[in-house]
Amino acid sequence: MTDVVRDPRALREYIEMAHRNRFSLGFVATMGALHEGHLSLVRRSVRENDRTIVSVYVNPLQFGVALDLERYQRVLEDDVALCSAARTDVVFAPSVRDMQPPGRATLVTLSGITDDFEGVHRPGHFDGVATIVATLFNLVRPHRAYFGQKDFQQAVVVRRMARDLQMPVDVVVCPIVRDADGLALSSRNAFLSDADRAEALRLPRALVAAERALLEDDASPAAVRALLADAMSSERDDVEMEYGDLVHPETLAPIHRLDGHGVLLGLLRVGSVRLLDNRVVASPGTPAWGD
Ligand code: AMP
Repeated sequence: MTDVVRDPRALREYIEMAHRNRFSLGFVATMGALHEGHLSLVRRSVRENDRTIVSVYVNPLQFGVALDLERYQRVLEDDVALCSAARTDVVFAPSVRDMQPPGRATLVTLSGITDDFEGVHRPGHFDGVATIVATLFNLVRPHRAYFGQKDFQQAVVVRRMARDLQMPVDVVVCPIVRDADGLALSSRNAFLSDADRAEALRLPRALVAAERALLEDDASPAAVRALLADAMSSERDDVEMEYGDLVHPETLAPIHRLDGHGVLLGLLRVGSVRLLDNRVVASPGTPAWGD
């Protein structure tokens, strides 16, 4: 049975009890509208921990649009049912008021790794993410927290924040879950028409082609960047690659020679929908990423 907890004080009581019982705690932070990508994180947490807490928190300010509360409530019911089927112990669905008390004076800001990519295209985004994730980590005090590789820069930011602030949590990064056609699952995919979706597939295909060029044809990183731009170019004016790059998986600095791991990062905008994807690549003889 999954408990739905809205009040942070009630969550604290649950967490105190769990720590007293020496339960290992797994945590998955989400914005709701759960799909198989989210559920892969939840299932892994359930496998690896005594108790799993899933947060569902949508910050309306982050989107700049008023949320239809009725619709949100319906989606939350579906999310709770999915979490329950995956044997989640607690769904934590706090109110905006509880998470963003008026007059908040503290922000968690990271430098360097937030300067490029999503940091450029969504100014302030990672301050919001790091601040909310830090707040949630303080409330939940998890032993392990599960994040998706799909939002690669976000996973790097959260991992670095936890390391820099010596938070006692192991940040686990889980593989990207894709649809059969190769498109990474995302709640944003629902906004794509059939024609849009055909355009969207340029992104995963470009990343696969780039990986092959790097590893099989020994292409230089510069040639790989050109290949990404070319593979994502479209005749449609409203389809645009916002970025496509080969970077170091921890510093996110551009790689000029692949020696060890790299990550191919891509963002393709189709109409108003921004689609993220990436592939981790490794030079021959390098152990699998994450090992
Ligand atoms: P969101 O609700 O979009 O904030 O996502 C919550 C978590 O689910 C984040 O850690 C995401 O990276 C992860 N996630 C979203 N989509 C996928 C996917 N297709 N595969 C794996 N993880 C995902």
